[in-house]
Amino acid sequence: MTLPLWFDPQQMLIGGEWQAANETVSVENPSDGREMAQIARGGRGEIDAAVAAARNALEGAWGRMSAAERGRILMRMSALVTARGEELATIEAMDVGKPLSQASADVAALARYLEFYGGAADKVMGQTIPYLDGYTAYTLREPHGVTAHIVPWNYPMQIIGRSVGAALAMGNATVIKPAEEASLTALAFARIAEEAGMPAGAVNIVPGLGEEAGAALSAHPGVNHISFTGSVAVGQLIQAAAAANVVPVTLELGGKSPQLVFADADLDRALPFLVNAGIQNAGQTCSAASRILVARERYDEVLERMAARYRGLVVGPALGDRDLGPLISARQKEIVEGYLRLASDLTIAAQGTIADDVPAAGHYVAPTLIGGGHAAHRLAQEEIFGPAQIVIPFEDEEEAVAIANGTDYGLVASVWSENASRVMRLAKRLRAGQVFLNNYGAGGGVELPFGGTGKSGHGREKGFEALYGFSSLKTIAAWHG
Ligand code: NAD
Repeated sequence: MTLPLWFDPQQMLIGGEWQAANETVSVENPSDGREMAQIARGGRGEIDAAVAAARNALEGAWGRMSAAERGRILMRMSALVTARGEELATIEAMDVGKPLSQASADVAALARYLEFYGGAADKVMGQTIPYLDGYTAYTLREPHGVTAHIVPWNYPMQIIGRSVGAALAMGNATVIKPAEEASLTALAFARIAEEAGMPAGAVNIVPGLGEEAGAALSAHPGVNHISFTGSVAVGQLIQAAAAANVVPVTLELGGKSPQLVFADADLDRALPFLVNAGIQNAGQTCSAASRILVARERYDEVLERMAARYRGLVVGPALGDRDLGPLISARQKEIVEGYLRLASDLTIAAQGTIADDVPAAGHYVAPTLIGGGHAAHRLAQEEIFGPAQIVIPFEDEEEAVAIANGTDYGLVASVWSENASRVMRLAKRLRAGQVFLNNYGAGGGVELPFGGTGKSGHGREKGFEALYGFSSLKTIAAWHG
């Protein structure tokens, strides 16, 4: 199938003008390993131009626009995303390698982010502050200015929706650097912004390589805030670059998220979550539930019931919409296979099947359930970013908490128990940006603030909270006697 593009993927959007770069980057279809497009390879010059265009937008029509009007543009974008839903889902499935139904869910999420932030744009308010006699004091929420958005390849539409959507709602002018592996729906987003009447320069997009366009954008002195989602290693570089310019940064990094299953858990409810939260997007999800901690007395039962599900999982090309698609690249496949080799001293409890009809050059890995795990094992400590989960027994609540909190990360955790006191207690004790009680992910909820602690990063995106992150608070105190 050819990509259903309605725009030229080799162009970048800078200051309202679509333009080509001098060089391009090849885009591979992970389902068959073939080149399916070329995208622009922007560099320092294009980043300079995009940051300047964003600054001009702030000083021009975009900067003067009312919050309500900004919101209406985002709402129009939301409707256009829905109208283009089929094309967007197909493009995302082909570009990332995710099953079509998961790509369709990402389209719905992008539309909902734009709807949510469109509706919220004129509802972010400051406060009046009771103060000394003779004064009136209040606060204003103002945009940071130019915000940079450096995006990974695993959920381009969702991550752009939650970060760029919130930044635009607050009146920032944005420069997007999508991931070189999957930039196509990011380009579609910029196109849709234009179609919805976004003033020139409010949304700029410069595709290219991380160490070129990404590094130039994060180090740019004209940028006032950086939102980065990606690996810990690059997050450290981004934070260092932000420090040099003393600008705030939101880091959404990796995770090693545990699900804690107690003896009194409702397993019929828990089981689909336990597996799905590990293998969605072939495990290439920051919030993947990659560790399953189970009370010793139900360990065998949970492992066997999960194994039965794993045996039924089928991996195939994205557009075939099987349970899992391929991994994003040959490199990612190599990394994941390297991790799976580390399981030789543990138990492979079950594996899914790679369909017979997959193209040989696609990056397919069978989902793998690993039993007999223990907290210190590398597979229980490091982010695999592939379709593998490790199951670890625990003796009691203390040990469960110690294992759950015993990694460098702190993104998501879940607790499965019918004991209301226990789940409330653990919600406080677990070190994570979000804790789900008797569910995992809560249906994705755009309303729910999301972010990490520890090496999972800092700052919050999603929900209303993101609007505070994408704005700067000004305090005004007037003396009037
Ligand atoms: P990555 O860090 O390699 O790349 C992310 C982005 O950074 C890409 O756009 C890339 O081009 C850019 N980049 C690379 N080098 C750069 C540099 N030197 N300077 C500036 N930009 C640079 O990450 P990835 O492999 O694309 O994504 C996988 C990682 O992202 C995983 O660790 C995953 O957990 C994490 N992730 C986190 C969340 C979250 O919300 N916490 C969401 C999705 C992914």
